[in-house]
Amino acid sequence: MVSRVIPVDRFDLVIFGGTGDLARRKILPALFRRYCAGQIPQDTRIIGAARSDMDCAGFRQVTADAIREFGGGRGCEDGTLEEFLDCIQYETVDAKGDMGWDALRGRLRDGVTKAFYFSVGPSLFGDLAQRLRDFGLADDHSRVVVEKPFGHDLETARALNATLAQHFSEDQIYRIDHYLGKETVQNLMAVRFGNVLFEPLWNAQYVDHIQITVAETVDVSGRGMYYDRSGAMRDMVQNHLMQLLCLIAMEPPARFEPDAVRDEKLKVIRALDPVDYHHIVRGQYSANDTQASYRTHVEDPRSTTESFVALKCNVSNWRWAGTPFYLRTGKCLKERSSEIVVVFKDAPHSIFGPDAGTHRNVLTIRLQPNEGITMRVTIKEPGPGGMRLVDVPLDMSFAEALGPDAEDVPDAYERLIMDVIRGNQTLFMRGDEVEAAWAWTDPIIEGWRRRGEVPKPYEPGSTGPEDALMLMHRDGRKWRDIRA
Ligand code: NAD
Repeated sequence: MVSRVIPVDRFDLVIFGGTGDLARRKILPALFRRYCAGQIPQDTRIIGAARSDMDCAGFRQVTADAIREFGGGRGCEDGTLEEFLDCIQYETVDAKGDMGWDALRGRLRDGVTKAFYFSVGPSLFGDLAQRLRDFGLADDHSRVVVEKPFGHDLETARALNATLAQHFSEDQIYRIDHYLGKETVQNLMAVRFGNVLFEPLWNAQYVDHIQITVAETVDVSGRGMYYDRSGAMRDMVQNHLMQLLCLIAMEPPARFEPDAVRDEKLKVIRALDPVDYHHIVRGQYSANDTQASYRTHVEDPRSTTESFVALKCNVSNWRWAGTPFYLRTGKCLKERSSEIVVVFKDAPHSIFGPDAGTHRNVLTIRLQPNEGITMRVTIKEPGPGGMRLVDVPLDMSFAEALGPDAEDVPDAYERLIMDVIRGNQTLFMRGDEVEAAWAWTDPIIEGWRRRGEVPKPYEPGSTGPEDALMLMHRDGRKWRDIRA
């Protein structure tokens, strides 16, 4: 299978915070890989802009080092990197002052798509947006890309939306949730809406429950200051897990177009019931022989911020009433694994009798590692001895299905940045979606504060606190094991 690469038109992309961690780890390597794939024309300009006093040669060195360190692939060896560096420029600017803005404008061309990536803390978004307008860098066709966290709660998200809206229209604003750029997430839509097989069964009549797990093995050391102000609910559930839930639960949009998709996602968020606090488990990792505790990774030794959340929620609409959604995410867990599991109901009647056993159909959509989709179906256990049933996987591993081309499947940032340049907002969050998600999570967080709730400790390398297992056991269900 040969993947088709459709080149984009040449563009000017300014990366504010170009010397920062996100730019070096994700954005610059992603751009390089798209360049190697032949998608980015040679006369494109990628301009780093940050506070650091540096010239273009210095930033080219930063870029080359970042690409080598964080995955440039074959292009690092065959001379493509040197070619790509010709696209790279740099300007020292102060987001909060006047320094550098006229010079930065001088680096931009008329008549090409202009995109501005805000890879800086959200407190600078307003300053950047204002200066882009004041200094005449942006026009009504320019695009701005903003990273999470998009607000700390509903109030701050509204304020951020309002600030950006003073300078840019909604169709110029690209709010990134990199989970939406993952190949499997888009495949989820292809599987749901490109086949007749699943959609008739995709409802409370046939689906027993859905699990969404985003498990990480890393702890919060190194970003403890940021994380402790945020916690798993704000850092993961409000954005990534809710976006996944939306894609699983939404009605088929009339077209695969930005507002059609985002309208349907918004309806899901609005249909979420408030979560009963008995249905939420908060956890914080403790220490063991090899791992320091959460509290030693943050400034406050008595911190009650959660590094783990598990919850049960309901989408109250005709399709889903009666089918619970279980969400869980955490740091320092036993494996790094993100997956969505759709567990179908038992067959209504077993014609094979009680000895044959029953097995449920389970559709697993894996986001990482080993992106792919697996469907477990029931068959007869081979061999003599009557009819005994087993469940076996019908597997669609991308690595196997696409062969060598699987290596060329773009990662989330590659896809999303190219979508910005193409002007396709389908995989970006709209302002009202973000606000609706905060409106759902705020009362949960506020409830913890009001009740003075302390997170349950859990062993590093485990699957989280015992209570998270109980959350499902109480309902006669169990989590799929967290496995890589
Ligand atoms: P960082 O601290 O590593 O980099 C910040 C960048 O902003 C630097 O280039 C710095 O020079 C620039 N900067 C700071 N103040 C400035 C000013 N007044 N004028 C001009 N430039 C200024 O931060 P980061 O980790 O790259 O994160 C950037 C944003 O992306 C943050 O909002 C973060 O929450 C978000 N984010 C980061 C990651 C990640 O993996 N690092 C992941 C998701 C989201």
